[in-house]
Amino acid sequence: MLKSFEIKLITSNNNKNILNKTFMEFNSACNYISEYAFNNKIYDKYFLQTFIYSDLRDNFNLSAQLTVRAIDNVCKSYIIDKKVMHIFNEYSALVEDNRSLNFKNNNIVSISALNGRIKLNYISRRKNKINNKREDINIPHNRNNEYYIIKRKNDFYIEIPYNTENKEIKDPLNVIGVDLGIVNVAVDSTGRKYTGNKIKKVRNRYKNLRSKLQRAGTKSAKRHLRKLSKKESRFQKDTDHIISKEIVSKAEGTSSILVMEDLTNIGKKTVVNKKYRYMHNSWSFYQLKSFILYKAQEKGITVVFINPAYTSQECPVCHYINKNNRYNRDNFKCLKCGYKNEADYVASLNIKNRVAVNLPIVAGIIYDRLICPAASSHALA
Ligand SMILES: [Zn+2]
Repeated sequence: MLKSFEIKLITSNNNKNILNKTFMEFNSACNYISEYAFNNKIYDKYFLQTFIYSDLRDNFNLSAQLTVRAIDNVCKSYIIDKKVMHIFNEYSALVEDNRSLNFKNNNIVSISALNGRIKLNYISRRKNKINNKREDINIPHNRNNEYYIIKRKNDFYIEIPYNTENKEIKDPLNVIGVDLGIVNVAVDSTGRKYTGNKIKKVRNRYKNLRSKLQRAGTKSAKRHLRKLSKKESRFQKDTDHIISKEIVSKAEGTSSILVMEDLTNIGKKTVVNKKYRYMHNSWSFYQLKSFILYKAQEKGITVVFINPAYTSQECPVCHYINKNNRYNRDNFKCLKCGYKNEADYVASLNIKNRVAVNLPIVAGIIYDRLICPAASSHALA
């Protein structure tokens, strides 16, 4: 998975000046290349280099390396669309590579700029949103050989694209089922509930505020509403980060694979109930799921998605399926064997057990460690 990592440069006025001029020079070179490429219909960087490299060196004040980057930058932009000539504005990203940009000791980065290289400090510590502690930035290894220097509000940043490694755990020892829900944000098959009255309280507070503002309907109320929704989505994001981190850490610590419901095709199924309809349209649910996925990928933890049919109605002990097993929203009692537990926890057990049907090889390794036997496949028919 390609992600990007951003660090902020510490720049004096003089350095800002040099960087500004470099941006302008780089992007006007890009425009020159773009015009040539478009008029001659040449979009291959090696051909372009043969035709205009010496022109560029004569007319622009860029290093050899930045000249090559500019050509490459233009060619990449034409991969997507060749119908119109591409125009770069003066602050489009400045592209550097492993030769034109190097990280040195003591938080110094050396960058190829106009009239030579400049050395800049960068901010090397940042606050961890999850525990509020300041920690060192670990710059990821950049295998793509490309750095983007970008400008925002008179500050400069280096954006580093990198691939996260997707290593597989060879011998998972355990399985953790995770049920994402409305009442509880998530419940896992170890019995941990990720809910917290804090979330409910905050949500209610926002809800009340929102309806007050909506009733007011004034201009300033509308402005406040927009602010509020930004705040709310930030809160949601932080919450989703905390929950996904805890789930993934647990999986890492117990050598587990994670199992979740695959709700992507649920619209076609007849078992669609309120929960799935809600989740299918819920941004927060999507966000939490994708946070779990990418954090798991980074740690090399396998995530398996299973068919969600009847996960809330099946008994995890005797596998009897009946919608009356879940006699109310929060509680489950099997009509056949009498097994009793909280409904969301029961669902997480069913999710966990279904990995045996979906992934027999993994299940073979962990089958004997499962608390409950695998779910019968008739539930999935
Ligand atoms: Zn039962």
